[in-house]
Parts: sequence; C-alpha cells; structure tokens
Amino acid sequence: MTDQYDVVVVGGGPAGYPTAIRAAQLGFKTACIDAWINKDNTPAFGGTCLNAGCIPSKALLESSELWHRMQHEIGAHGISGSDFKVDLDKMQARKTAVSRQLTGGIKQLFAANKVTGLEGFGKLLGDGKVEFTPHSGDKQVLTAKHIVIATGSSPVNLKITPFDDETIVDSWGALDFTEVPKTLGIIGAGVIGVELGSVWSRLGSKTVILEAMPSFLPMVDAAISKEALRHFTKQGLDIRLGAKVAGAKVKGGKGGKTVEVEYEMGGETKKETFDKLIVAVGRRPNTDGLNAKEIGVAFDERGFVKVDANYKTNVPGVYAVGDVIGGAMLAHKAIEEGVALAEQLHGEHTQVNYDAVPSVIYTMPEVAWTGLSEEQAKAKGFDVKVGTAPFAANGRAKAMEQPVGTIKIIADKKTDRVLGVHMVGPYVSELLAEAVLGLEFAATVEDYALTMHGHPSLAETFHEAVLSVDGRAIHA
Ligand code: FAD
Repeated sequence: MTDQYDVVVVGGGPAGYPTAIRAAQLGFKTACIDAWINKDNTPAFGGTCLNAGCIPSKALLESSELWHRMQHEIGAHGISGSDFKVDLDKMQARKTAVSRQLTGGIKQLFAANKVTGLEGFGKLLGDGKVEFTPHSGDKQVLTAKHIVIATGSSPVNLKITPFDDETIVDSWGALDFTEVPKTLGIIGAGVIGVELGSVWSRLGSKTVILEAMPSFLPMVDAAISKEALRHFTKQGLDIRLGAKVAGAKVKGGKGGKTVEVEYEMGGETKKETFDKLIVAVGRRPNTDGLNAKEIGVAFDERGFVKVDANYKTNVPGVYAVGDVIGGAMLAHKAIEEGVALAEQLHGEHTQVNYDAVPSVIYTMPEVAWTGLSEEQAKAKGFDVKVGTAPFAANGRAKAMEQPVGTIKIIADKKTDRVLGVHMVGPYVSELLAEAVLGLEFAATVEDYALTMHGHPSLAETFHEAVLSVDGRAIHA
C-alpha cells in the first residue's frame, strides 16, 4: 500500500516535529516518522531532547539544586530542619513524568494540526519514496514531494571506553541511575558533562571530570569560563584539564563493579577507580539504516548530512535539519531550522540567524552566552570595548541569596554595536533572551543603556554591564 503526502519528515525530535507541524499549518499533507523507544519499551515523539536530553536533565538539575540549596543556603534564610532526605526513586519518577507530559503533548499537537504521526523506522528509497516500518505491523511505502531528514544524533561511543550500559554509560544512562554512585568519573567537561556532574555531585557523588583540552569551556569568554570554573570547583566538582584518557577497565563481579580509568596528565600516567563512568565526549549524526548514502545524499567528512543555506541536500526533494546537519547541537537551533525549512517549502524567504544562537549550561550558577566572546571578537579583527558587572551588587540576587557571577558585554568600538554577551550567574538563561534579541536587532550599547530595567531584578546587572562599557555604571 502506498500513502501519498506532500511532506514526510523522518525523525520526530526538536528538528522533525516542528517541521511537520509548520508544514501542516501551511497546508501541506504531512507525516512524521519517529523511531524512538524509551527504556520501558514505550515509543515517544520528542527525540533526544524530550526523552533523554534537555528535559530530563533539567528536571534532575532542578531537584538536585533544591537539595543543594537546602543543605547549603537555607540556613541563611533562618530556616532549619533535619528531616529532609533524598528519595531518588521519586526524583526519577518526577523526571520521567515531566518528559512524558511533554512527549504526549506532541501527539496532541499532531492531532490538532493534522500531522500523521507514525511510530517506527523510516528508510529513504529514492524517487520521493520512504519506507515506514512500524514498531509492530507491516511495512508501508509513503511517497512525498518533499522528504526531510531530521534523524538527530547519538552519543559518541569511544573504542577505549566502550559503553556497557551499567558501569560505563552515556548521557542517557547517566540520567537513569537508580542509586547515587559514591564515586563518579566523567570524560568530557563540555555542557553535558558539567550538567550531569553537577546533578550527581549535588546528590553526593564524589565527582571527577577528566577533560583532554587544556582550557575549560573554550567557547565561552575566558573571563566568564574562569569564574564558572572557580564556582564549580568550590561546589566540589573536581575538574581536571589536560587529562587525556587512555582507557577504562570494568572490574569486579555481581553487585560490586567498578571502573578503572587510565589517563595522562602533566606528563604522568595516572589511574583512578570509580563506581560509574559517564562518557560525554560529543555526539554523532544518526544515519544508520536510513539508506541516505545509497540514494546519493552527500555527507561531510564527519558523517553529517551536507546541506545548502536552504537545507537542501544534493538530492532534489530531500532536505535535512537539526543535529544531523551539525553546527550547534541545540534543540532551539533544530526547531528554528525546521520551521524555516517548512516556510521555504511554502515559498517564503525565511532564514536562521546563526550569529545569535543562545547557549546555556544549567548549572548553579548558570553559564549563558550568545554572540562573540572578547577573544573571538578580537580574532575577527574588531576593535573591541567591553563592560562587566557583578551580581554581588544586585539587590534581587542578594535577596535570593545568590549574589554570584558576572555579566560581560562585548561591543564594537567603531559602531557601538553589541557583538556578544557572556554571563555566569543566577538564572542567566532567562536574561539571555534580552541579549539574543539585541543581537537580532543589531542593538548598540546606547540602545541598551537607554532601556529601563525593572528594580529589583537580575536584569539590572545586564544594564549595569552595558553602562560599564563606557564607564558610566552607577552601582559597580
Ligand atoms: P534528536 O532529538 O536526536 O531526534 C531525532 C529523532 O529521530 C529521534 O527520536 C530518533 O529516534 C529519530 N530517528 C533517527 N533515525 C530515524 C529513522 N531512520 N527513522 C525514524 N526515526 C529516526 N539542547 C538544548 O538546546 N538545550 C539543552 O538543555 C540540552 N540539553 C541536553 C542534555 C543532554 C543530556 C543531551 C544528550 C542533549 C541536550 N541537548 C540540549 C541537545 C538536544 O537534545 C539536541 O540538540 C536535539 O535533541 C536535536 O534535535 P534533533 O531533532 O535534531 O535530534
């Protein structure tokens, strides 16, 4: 049997499901195929982000932060008590419930927008055809004028530290621990490594993060990443830079497995044993079994699907968006690409502004940035002026008992235009929207300076940082 569609999207994560919804809103007859199956054997739309990434990690970060604040901060508010304890099963159940509410919501959105959601595997057959193999039942062939690859990415499995899904785990496994490991090793001090390290360290794991690079968060402005490192170290995360892992051996038997990690640091070979090891060294595009190469779709040297500025592959009628095309591996970048593509298929001239991508690390304090760091701006040849303001002087942050962190504004001396905003501090993920909007509108330092910010609010520190660019901050 052959079903005919205008658009078939393969992959129902943050790239795929918005592509499908927007295409359907624009009048295309649309289907979205997704192969995700959760560990309890339930299929779900939403991809990595909703099932094993953004959302479950933020749920556990929130719970573990509450626990941390109760232990370390609550006394300062004049509140005391000793009867609190962590019920990890309940914490994990809450995490799963949050994810499931959202993944269930996608099905409702599909129904409301008349998208046909198909749970199972999609394979490109060429000539506008896609084979759909449902999780149970018979294969079907769909035809479509436009086929969108939105198959996402999976954790890189290193040969020297292969996942066994028990002692050596990927980020998904690390979100599902049923006990708090006494000792935890993490390979990779990127966004995922630092977030997962924070969760388990707050819950009691003695956590060591091994990072091969000599610098911490090199994509973040050096002053901000240095300050973040100081806060994380103070909280108990043992982040070892320049630590190159050579291998890992799982030892012991039933009930008592540990993993010994060998690494080289400062010219010495070292060994350390952990109860669990998380490998968070990056993600690779999902194209296994997709048959994309076989129908002629071109890939780059790292296995990402090659596309032009309009998300077209080299095969007519086949497009790709999201993690599978590389670039910033972020859910919101995937969503924007999907929506832009659907609108282009409808004849509109939409585009994604890759100079204003927001990035966040949901630690405590959070790290958030958009646009260029001071180092990047200088390397691009800008004559740079910068301003900074600390949260230490912010009334709201003090009232919240979180007066830590700094906001840094990077601007062009010649045009006064803001080039980047890099921050570490409380809820800077929320302040980031102001920064991104400014970059989108090509705001100048003067535009921001003339903008009134509510008092008392964390955003006042943003204003102070802007004012300090030209030496006119009032409180710093
Ligand atoms: P995916 O979400 O990977 O979705 C692809 C979907 O396609 C999957 O459901 C997959 O099963 C399906 N699929 C693959 N092949 C086929 C096939 N042949 N047929 C049918 N279906 C197929 N990003 C943020 O922006 N903010 C965060 O806070 C954040 N936190 C993260 C935390 C963790 C622990 C991880 C791992 C990632 C995090 N990310 C975060 C990244 C974010 O999850 C990804 O950038 C995002 O999910 C990419 O969306 P996507 O749709 O391209 O791919």
